Amino acid sequence: MSGPAVLQATQRRRRLVAVDIGSDISGIQGGKGVPKTEDVLRDIDDKFDIALGKLLELVSIQSISSEPAGKDGIVRAAEWLRQELSSIGLAADVIGTKGHPIVLARSSAASTDNKPRLLFYGHYDVQPVGDIGQWKHPPFEPTVIKEDGVRRFYGRGTSDSKSQLWTFIEALRGWKSVHGEFPAEVIVMLEGEEECGSPSLPDFIKAHRDDLTCDVAFICDAEMWSATQPAITTQLKGLVHERVTISAPNPDLHSGHYGAVAANPIRVLSTILASLHDDKGRVAIDGFYDWVRDIPDAVRQQWRDLSRQPELFADVDLSGGIAEEGYSPIEAMWSRPTVDINGITGGNQGPGERSVLPGTATARLSFRLVVGQSPETIRQRFRSHVKRMVPKGCRVEFEGHGGSSAVVLSQDSLYLKATARGLEKEWETPVVLRGTGGAIPLVEQLSNTLETECVVIGFILPSDAIHAPDEHYDSERLRKGARSWIRIFDEIQAQMPSQS
Ligand SMILES: [Zn+2]
Repeated sequence: MSGPAVLQATQRRRRLVAVDIGSDISGIQGGKGVPKTEDVLRDIDDKFDIALGKLLELVSIQSISSEPAGKDGIVRAAEWLRQELSSIGLAADVIGTKGHPIVLARSSAASTDNKPRLLFYGHYDVQPVGDIGQWKHPPFEPTVIKEDGVRRFYGRGTSDSKSQLWTFIEALRGWKSVHGEFPAEVIVMLEGEEECGSPSLPDFIKAHRDDLTCDVAFICDAEMWSATQPAITTQLKGLVHERVTISAPNPDLHSGHYGAVAANPIRVLSTILASLHDDKGRVAIDGFYDWVRDIPDAVRQQWRDLSRQPELFADVDLSGGIAEEGYSPIEAMWSRPTVDINGITGGNQGPGERSVLPGTATARLSFRLVVGQSPETIRQRFRSHVKRMVPKGCRVEFEGHGGSSAVVLSQDSLYLKATARGLEKEWETPVVLRGTGGAIPLVEQLSNTLETECVVIGFILPSDAIHAPDEHYDSERLRKGARSWIRIFDEIQAQMPSQS
């Protein structure tokens, strides 16, 4: 999208300049910030126990966004964060939405004149606890425990996503306290509805378009490649949900009387669902792959190298799975569109037997889209496919709207490169440029709607029991996560145009 607002915003931007830093990370000198970088890193290390204590305080606030009982925790967490952001010198507000509030903070522009504007996104809401009986550690009373040589703490939101936002807040605090100013003009946006689908976010972004205009948005909601190797996510899939219900001409019937002759919606639905894939694992909906581009050779090569890592699928048994023919698991997961059947209901679901021809049957499906596929087109093509297969006399109804498109972020971005160099310096290993089968609708909204450059990173791992009982995190990733941002700020400063 383009328009006057975008144009105006673009004029305000201060881009980085390409400087010849080379690709060898070992000998890089960071630039203007260098004399003080070690001081900031030392400050992060020296004050680490304070930072950790504060994070535990935040985790103890029960900010569950999808349950009415979490409302009080949401309000308290938002206010707690507003105070923390204010205390490090940002002008912070808690801004109401139709749903849960967004905490928005910014530095004063005067002190950061001629510097790029960086936006940091995180979310402070958490998933529900689920079955409390499955937790060995209380979900909202985190304490640090030494386990397997690691200082670990358990609690809902420790990993997803309170640790994530705390890495950049702590880094901003450390930088400001040593340098006396922020590394750039800073905007912090913390959402309280990420775990329930971000319903208020699109309207918020539209209403605060000018406030959110920035040179780069750091979306800190992603995973590392491993506990010792950082990653930047450069490909995200889009997502469409659909619900389809087949109804027979009659309500429930006695299956003994009519099973041989009357329509059975579960049978109709099963036939339709089975027709969604061919025997090569490809989606068999007409036009499903229109506009889908093949994976570029260079990207295929990068991923082929990653596929050789034996620990890649160590946690999951893939036997019985059907991947699309001609694609490796990583290629299929990150770059090929898919349809998944998420649930089927209909007929007898009770404890005892009931010989019934059900009146209706419903399936829920999700489509994971790649670049080139529009959510609405895919929805319509799926619906046409289903309608063609519904027998005479039966009815079909669909539910589903909206959806998000896939995003591929440029690997040539100077901000992405600066981020990669910063991460490599801190972790002393190459950064993995990865894809994901998941969607972050915010990235789509910022990058496609506001044309904002996004860098998607984070310091969590699937093995942190995200969304599961005994979610946990460890203090070393928190410390190195905060330090990573210092290195990234340093790299960005090295590439800023010199002030005249
Ligand atoms: Zn989550």
